[in-house]
Amino acid sequence: MDKILVLNSGSTSVKFQLFNMEKGYHEVITKGMVDRIGLAGSKIIVKADNEHDFTMETPINNHKDAIKVVLDYLLKKHLKNTDELSAVGHRMGHGGEYFDKSVIIDEDVMEKIYDTIPLIPLHGPAFVHGLEAVTELLPNKVQVATFDSAYHQSMKKSAYLYAIPEEYYKNHRIRRYGFHGTSHNYISHITKDILGFQGKVISCHLGGGASICAIDKGKSVDTTMGYTPSAGIIMSTRSGDMDPYIPLHIMKTQNKTADEVNTMFNKQSGMFGLTNGHSDMRDIIESAENGDKDCAFAIEAYVYSLVKTIGAYIAVLGGIDALVFTAGIGENSPLIRRKVCERLSYLGLNLDEEKNNLRPAPQEITTSDSKVKVLVIPANEELMIAEETFELISELKDKEAMAV
Ligand code: ADP
Repeated sequence: MDKILVLNSGSTSVKFQLFNMEKGYHEVITKGMVDRIGLAGSKIIVKADNEHDFTMETPINNHKDAIKVVLDYLLKKHLKNTDELSAVGHRMGHGGEYFDKSVIIDEDVMEKIYDTIPLIPLHGPAFVHGLEAVTELLPNKVQVATFDSAYHQSMKKSAYLYAIPEEYYKNHRIRRYGFHGTSHNYISHITKDILGFQGKVISCHLGGGASICAIDKGKSVDTTMGYTPSAGIIMSTRSGDMDPYIPLHIMKTQNKTADEVNTMFNKQSGMFGLTNGHSDMRDIIESAENGDKDCAFAIEAYVYSLVKTIGAYIAVLGGIDALVFTAGIGENSPLIRRKVCERLSYLGLNLDEEKNNLRPAPQEITTSDSKVKVLVIPANEELMIAEETFELISELKDKEAMAV
């Protein structure tokens, strides 16, 4: 049995999923998270154990402690020993221009990963702490890194280069990288299975953070997030795209520091900024239904930002075969899907209202005569990481077998 542990290390949390991967088949054995690392009340929460869910509070000072707690739990309940674990797959934030796919960790890869930390100073160190912790705790275990930016390395220079002096690209690596790549890649794979061919796909990952990706024949052609995940469509608390002079103007005239302006655009803007403090789309929809005008306006602005981007990406792709909704809002909000699809009816896109309103929504929510298919696909970045890890260790085993 091939068991793969997938880890997603954040600054104060580690999410984990243990997969059983067999050729053409996978099963989530257990999943959960360690929360509040380095803070009071740190704990491990197991959400989907086959037998029962549980929470255990215990002091957890750093990522090594956190992963040790996860391994102890797995050894108690799901693994006879750590040899049963074929590999550990890590979600990594940034691969810079080094990585366009998942890779097995070795010294050279580690050096490149360290070199990408300045590109993602806030979240980069946590991802690396997760990797280092596994290296210490399971020194001989194969580890794989899957990068959030890697899928978008297929973008052409015209899509990724900003129109600023080129020295900022050449000397400071400033360009569009894009994120949510593992999710968009997963959507591309599942959509191909549904369509039966690799077509022109627009993938809308609408969670708290949100991005849209234009995909042609399985490859990312363009995406809304940029040098950082702050760019693109309106998000829960991030403004998305705006005039680049605005932050400078605010700093100059309101006497604010770069950090203060950063907090304002990333934590107090987007839907939160437009609604006087609501960031959860469920609350916003409910308040709008109860007559809150700001919330109603914010929904219109959100939909407008999606439709404008989808229109641009249809132009970039030269058409569209499938529009896909994924992540919290994409999977769960019939209202947002309907409002977006209504404005795309000129394409011959016919939403099936009944299917759109079913919860959970079926995979396809358009009528059989619709010229564009609209799909709802649950996000599953962890499975994508597990599959890529499994593929890489299978290749490694084949190579080792040939060498013998
Ligand atoms: P992230 O991991 O980026 O925080 P998720 O993919 O979990 O995000 O999505 C979170 C968002 O999904 C929240 O804004 C939440 O309001 C929204 N969401 C969840 N369920 C619904 C629903 N039924 N209707 C509208 N929005 C929803």
